[in-house]
Formats: sequence, structure tokens, C-alpha cells
Amino acid sequence: MAELTPHDMIGRLVGIPTVSRDSNLDLIDFVANYLDGYGFEAHLVRSDDGGKANLYATIGPEEPGGIVLSGHTDVVPIDGQDWSSDPFAPEVRDGRMFGRGTCDMKGFCALALSLVPEMQRLRRPIHFAFSYDEEVGCVGAPRMIRAIRANVPEPRAVIVGEPTSMQIVTGHKGILHFRSHVRGYEAHSSQQQRGVPAIMYAARLVNWMAEKQAALAAGGDLDERFEPAFTTLHCGVIHGGTAHNITSKDCHFEADIRSVPGVSARDFFDELERYAREVLEPMMHAIQPNTGIDFDVTSDVPSFAVDEDEPAVAMLRQLTGRNDSGVVPFAAECGQFQEEGFSVVMCGPGSIDQAHQPDEFISLEQVDAGLTFLRSVIGQQQELPR
Ligand SMILES: [Zn+2]
Repeated sequence: MAELTPHDMIGRLVGIPTVSRDSNLDLIDFVANYLDGYGFEAHLVRSDDGGKANLYATIGPEEPGGIVLSGHTDVVPIDGQDWSSDPFAPEVRDGRMFGRGTCDMKGFCALALSLVPEMQRLRRPIHFAFSYDEEVGCVGAPRMIRAIRANVPEPRAVIVGEPTSMQIVTGHKGILHFRSHVRGYEAHSSQQQRGVPAIMYAARLVNWMAEKQAALAAGGDLDERFEPAFTTLHCGVIHGGTAHNITSKDCHFEADIRSVPGVSARDFFDELERYAREVLEPMMHAIQPNTGIDFDVTSDVPSFAVDEDEPAVAMLRQLTGRNDSGVVPFAAECGQFQEEGFSVVMCGPGSIDQAHQPDEFISLEQVDAGLTFLRSVIGQQQELPR
């Protein structure tokens, strides 16, 4: 295979559309073939239906002390967005490369891949870990992370290359997303003794969340590095009912709980569910037995926080030449790596301000910064272990 420049490689990856709802196998095949061309074996960890896959690979010796470069291969949809150029055919204008995934986050994966020819004489390995379905609740990565844990000699750090403008990020919130279906019973709204109004019960659940958040904001488990500093509980979608004078038969809502590090979103969800089971459902059943409240947790992504004096953070400071660090409000795969015992830091090129937007771009200056950083990672892995 002819050598691909970093720009070529971004173009190749962005040019294979991998919106989360679609398969990412064309991209995974491309990467596996590319690595094979340099004599490196890609390991695939597939989804249950086989329609998607994670990929991990080791460049260099099968030794401990490696650095994992981690990214997700899926991108968010372009539906309803007004783009100035084809989102899947990247275009450079005004020092920026435009295209879906250029910044979030095929750019990072592409830069790392484009440097494979430079990954010579490594004394300690560099590992790639590319996941699927990050954008729909980080559902692809856990099985890959377990496979890496089982099969890869202990690496000393995982770098998750989400777009942080190359800032060192040492924390993110967790997120639990759930759907609920409140099943009521229809009657004339004047006959509350016969009807079970689903919307009214859903409203109690939503209100429980609002009151819980207010209590947390007033002083529970604050983490001042975040804005806001507390765990949030938010209902973003709700629909139900057919007329003001019919007790509603159905109400559906969707909500998320974004937890600060050290706090379990699951605990709040469990508490909400107990309220539904122990308080609300008995009230509903007293009027009509065939009613109830269903919950479906669609994703539960742990929060992430790394100690400022962990070796991985010190290493990142040395590699980037930066002393500052921060946290990000969005959830990513860092907490999942951390749960499996890896030392994790988030740091990557491009700005989250351009992610998920029409005309998403990565600036060429950030491309260069990313390459400089990755070359220093390579340089460090070429040195004798200290
Ligand atoms: Zn991302």
C-alpha cells in the first residue's frame, strides 16, 4: 500500500460514512488491511449481531509498558444539518479540514494510523483501540476493553483522543440514559376514581428528578471542577395523551442522569425506580391492576477522574509540554477503561466546539499539534524503559 499522508488518511476515514446507526465494518476492514500491509495483526471484537466491530492492534513488541491510543469510529448523523460541502468528502478551506468526524474523532485515529510507518524500533508497544457506537452511549467499547485486558500485556497508559484542543483532561461526568413508559387507563377525566392518568404519574417521576437535582445543587457531592458542579437529572422528551378530558393511557419519556465522579448515576436511578414501585404503582393498581411503569436503561457510562499525580498524567504533561489540565462535561469511554483498571487520560486534537455540528472541522494547526504529540509518544516508546 502506498504511504498515506495524515491528510490522506483523514480523508479515507471520513470518506467511509460510519454514522452510529449504520455498520462500521467497511472502515474496520480498511484499517485491518492497512495494518496488515505493515505486518500488524488487527483483532476484531464484534457486536452481537456481527454488524459492527471494535478493532485493537499492537504495533511493536508484545511487552508491557505500552501506550493505548483509543478512539471511536462512529460519527453522529448529518440529518437536517446544512453543510457547505459534502460531509463525507473532506475539503480544506481557510486552514480547516471540513467533514463529519474530522474532529470527533476520526482525525485522531487517522493521525495515529498515518504514523504507523514511523513506528519503527519500538522498545515498548503502541496499541490502537478503535471502538464502535460511542456516540449512542459508549455501548461498543466495554467488550473491546475486556479483550484488551485479557490479551494485551499491561500498558502503562491509555490516551483517549477525544477533541480537547490538546488539553490534558483528567475527568468527565458519567451518564445514565433511560426511557420510561407509564401505562395508565383511560376514562372520562371527570372520573378520577376510574381512570389512571399516565401523564400525571410521569409528571411525578419527572418532578422527583427535579427535586433531587435541586437538593444536589444545594450542596450534595459537589465537584467544583465541573460546571455545573453537581449531578444533573433531566427529562428531555415526553409525550402522551390524546385529549384534555381523557385520562391518558400512555406517557413515554426519556431522561438522563449525568453524575460527577464518585457519584453513581445508577443509585439515583434505582431510587427513582423504588419510588415508582413502592409509591406510585400501588396508587395506580388501587384503581386499575393492568397499569404500571416500565423502565429501560439504554446506557450507563461511568464517570472518569484521574489523580493529578498519577504517572499517566505526568507522562502527558511531559509529552504535551503543558502543565494545565481540566475536565469536560461530556461523557466518553475513559471511565470504562478506568473501571477495568487502566490508567487513563483524555487528550486529542480538534475542539469539541466543532463536534456534532454542520461544517464540523479540524484546523490544520490542530492536525499539526496532534502529529507533534503522537510523534513524541512514538519517540518515548522508542527509548529504553526507565
Ligand atoms: Zn467523540
